[in-house]
Amino acid sequence: MTPAPPPDLSAHPATSLRTDRCGDLRAGDVGRAVSLCGWVARRRQHGEHLAFVDLRDRSGVVQCVVDGASELRSEFVVRITGTVRPRPEGTGNADLATGEVEVGDCQVEVLNPAEPPPFPVSDRVEADEATRLRHRYIDLRRNRMQRNLVVRAAVTRALRSAMDRQGFLEVETPLLWVPTPEGAREFVIPSRLQPGHFYVLPQSPQLAKQLLMVAGLDRYYQIARCLRDEDLRADRQFEFAQLDLEASFVSQDDVLAFVAEAVLDATEAATGARPDPIERLTWTEAMERFGSDKPDLRAGPELVELGPVFAQTAFRAFVGADCIKGMRAPGQGDLGRNRLDALTESAKGLGAKGLVWLRVGEGGTLDSPVAKFLSDAERAGLVAAVEAEPGDLVLVVADERPTVRAVLGQLRLDLGRPPVSEGARRFVWITEFPLFEGLDGEGRPVPAHHAFTMPHPDDLDRLESDPLSVRSQSYDLVLNGWELGSGSIRIHRADIQSRIFSVLGISEAEAQARFGFLLDAFRYGAPPHGGFAVGLDRLVAILAGEENIREVIAFPKTQSGLDPLTGAPAPVAPKLLAGLGIKVLPAPA
Ligand code: ASP
Repeated sequence: MTPAPPPDLSAHPATSLRTDRCGDLRAGDVGRAVSLCGWVARRRQHGEHLAFVDLRDRSGVVQCVVDGASELRSEFVVRITGTVRPRPEGTGNADLATGEVEVGDCQVEVLNPAEPPPFPVSDRVEADEATRLRHRYIDLRRNRMQRNLVVRAAVTRALRSAMDRQGFLEVETPLLWVPTPEGAREFVIPSRLQPGHFYVLPQSPQLAKQLLMVAGLDRYYQIARCLRDEDLRADRQFEFAQLDLEASFVSQDDVLAFVAEAVLDATEAATGARPDPIERLTWTEAMERFGSDKPDLRAGPELVELGPVFAQTAFRAFVGADCIKGMRAPGQGDLGRNRLDALTESAKGLGAKGLVWLRVGEGGTLDSPVAKFLSDAERAGLVAAVEAEPGDLVLVVADERPTVRAVLGQLRLDLGRPPVSEGARRFVWITEFPLFEGLDGEGRPVPAHHAFTMPHPDDLDRLESDPLSVRSQSYDLVLNGWELGSGSIRIHRADIQSRIFSVLGISEAEAQARFGFLLDAFRYGAPPHGGFAVGLDRLVAILAGEENIREVIAFPKTQSGLDPLTGAPAPVAPKLLAGLGIKVLPAPA
């Protein structure tokens, strides 16, 4: 399948004011008369007679040689008309795409002078976050930021084209909506025409897309804006974009194939290389082997079951343990006592009773305070099971199974995880999530995905008797340890839906009040259906080599949810509030 072509910056450069873009000029253009428009990136005055002006537009930079003294300053907007010529022998710049040429005989027209920028437009100088966002229009002039937005556009284009090709129809769903079932805190919008009533900004188009399936749209997608009023982090903003999709008459395998095609195309469009087909792990495999439901497959060795090795052990800490697992940390046998004590503390912080560490020496000898409590056979068995090499560190935890997985899963990341955006891109599907993630304060199961997720058909008869053991037909896509998206096959049958509501403790009246419009629609012929949503900002960040999704969003909010550029959120005029029937109370102390 051909992915979307990379963005072609040289297409249609000419406008009434210019013939070319700065970054496009090459040796083949020598002799051409050109007009260029852009910003003064740099000006170097050589005596009274000559100035070198680097002119910048979105396509790049070209050197212009201007006769006489120049009044130009950084970030002035200018139009330069001149002739392309080769740079004098020995003055070429191999780091610049236009480095073989320059523009001479220049006429300069200042289209608009500019004040000195509050920080230099340079990838080498990093201003603080608030300053960058306050003047985001200057920040976005930088190479890195322009490149990120180009990657974003290439990714979006590839996703759209993959969905179109697979027969999906793009449909927009409303922003003024009602609560949706993802369960995050929502942004609320007061209604002027119905005082005291509120819209809710959608956390996702979940219910709308399910209605589109009832409507017979068959395959829907949208690059959807979703809004969740939750604390901001490196991988989370209030508003984010997702490739949202839903399809009828499908199995889980069909949905996974649609999404894989789209994200692999997007990766190829952004990086030039198509990753391998996406591996699959069940949730249980992921938890047992990596101690995480969003495993970073790059982060070193897996967790190994050690129950059989220590079945007859006399070592107190291991006797009778629900689960014993270990892992090797390659080449980390030289960690000092301070670091090992810190690892032990963090294991305890995660709920473990302790952490056993062993340094592996030549010939598989083990150096550890606990080594003397282990038999020869146990020591040899441990080294063989985790495939330890001399110079490795081996970590072992014996505890309740969930604690062992959580502790070793975290230590695996702490010791071996490369930055999220570095190196290989390892996508992985996680399937067969538990239907419920645990019990709430009242002992009711809490949905792991949302209340419309279809249980695994083999587990349906345990829905009421043993809900926490029921698997679901839901699945996540993970990339380098970041959850990139999730989806599920939905419940389309009223009988299964009522059983779920009743297990969740949602009465029929409450279900009707919250989701009545969807349940009503389901009475008029709902096809079996399922879908997915891929977090666009996270995908673009990883593909662009960024650790924070803010770097791939044109106008993001700060960590505290503010927009220093516009001043949002801001108070509104009392008259506007009065018209909405709203009175602002003093902030709670
Ligand atoms: N609505 C889900 C989400 O936003 C995705 C899905 O189930 O399709 O996470």
